[in-house]
Amino acid sequence: MTPFGTFFLPGPTEVRPEVLQAMLQPMLPHRGAAFESLFARVQAGLKPIFRTQRPVYVSSSSATGLMEAAVRCARPGAVLCLVNGAFSERFAHIAHACGRDATVVGGEWHRPVPLDVVEDALRTRRYSALTVVHSETSTGTLTDIQALATLARQFDCAVLVDSVTGLGGVPVETDAWGLDFVLTGSQKALALPPGLAFGVASEHFIAEAGQAQGRGLYFDLVEFEQYVHRNQTPNTPALSLLYATAVQGERIARETIARRWERHQEMAEHTYSWVHELRQRAGAPFCVYAPEDARSHTVTAVSLPPNLAGDAIVKGVAKRGFVIGGGYGKLKASTIR
Ligand SMILES: *Cc1c(COP(=O)(O)O)cnc(C)c1O
Repeated sequence: MTPFGTFFLPGPTEVRPEVLQAMLQPMLPHRGAAFESLFARVQAGLKPIFRTQRPVYVSSSSATGLMEAAVRCARPGAVLCLVNGAFSERFAHIAHACGRDATVVGGEWHRPVPLDVVEDALRTRRYSALTVVHSETSTGTLTDIQALATLARQFDCAVLVDSVTGLGGVPVETDAWGLDFVLTGSQKALALPPGLAFGVASEHFIAEAGQAQGRGLYFDLVEFEQYVHRNQTPNTPALSLLYATAVQGERIARETIARRWERHQEMAEHTYSWVHELRQRAGAPFCVYAPEDARSHTVTAVSLPPNLAGDAIVKGVAKRGFVIGGGYGKLKASTIR
């Protein structure tokens, strides 16, 4: 096995050996006391990470499943989709694919969608919900979801947040910021293997979700809400991953979420200084793609000089024993992550 500390993809991220080990525990019936106490441990670990008093839904799917759930379960009405990268574009595609009347704003990849653009859209038309990606994994850009939630509340528009590379690595205050739905996947900032998605709905959001037509079954959050209070999931969960989640939740609690945020900030700043130093040393235009005031601490896209191809760098680094990410979507050739 390659040594720990050499794997630097935005996702899946490297998983601690003791977390992998936890998955070797025996199967349990998922209707029964032993499972319920495992699920309670998972809840105890996840709630402080989401900074919520609400229960955390556990979906045996990748994060995209809960993106779809968010859209399907928003109360009837049009959906405003904030797009500033490949994953927020996906959120907009999902809204269309679920038959929602969806409007896209933004579309530029180099910054968050400006608040005044969102405000104009909300003034022009009534939206029941908006979709936003907190930490755009394709660009490394961070959107101020607290300010967005404050704005959207004035228009009674629910804020559906994809924080797949945010939650667990950068501050997210689900309750204090009044976020209506926050989702993540297991394999990014939470450093678990892929296969689970986690989400928290505000009481207001879930109370209105029952009005949404065509919620389907597998991603019906109204069902998740009913089961979560019994420490259960609506259908057979990916049990082995729940063992891993319980252990990782306890590891994060020992470190504390605040220290984890700090540690990611330190790693991000280390990366920014490296890029700066490289630019000086090579006399070539290496730079951090995201604007200085809107950077995610968990993922950095580095713009390359025009004569350097991203995939060649990724291959060269791999030869030295490290896995890094190439660019994503339309930044594939021009960045590394
Ligand atoms: C990885 C990622 C997703 C999709 O996750 P899957 O687990 O592949 O479904 C969605 N949004 C963001 C921001 C991501 O980084």
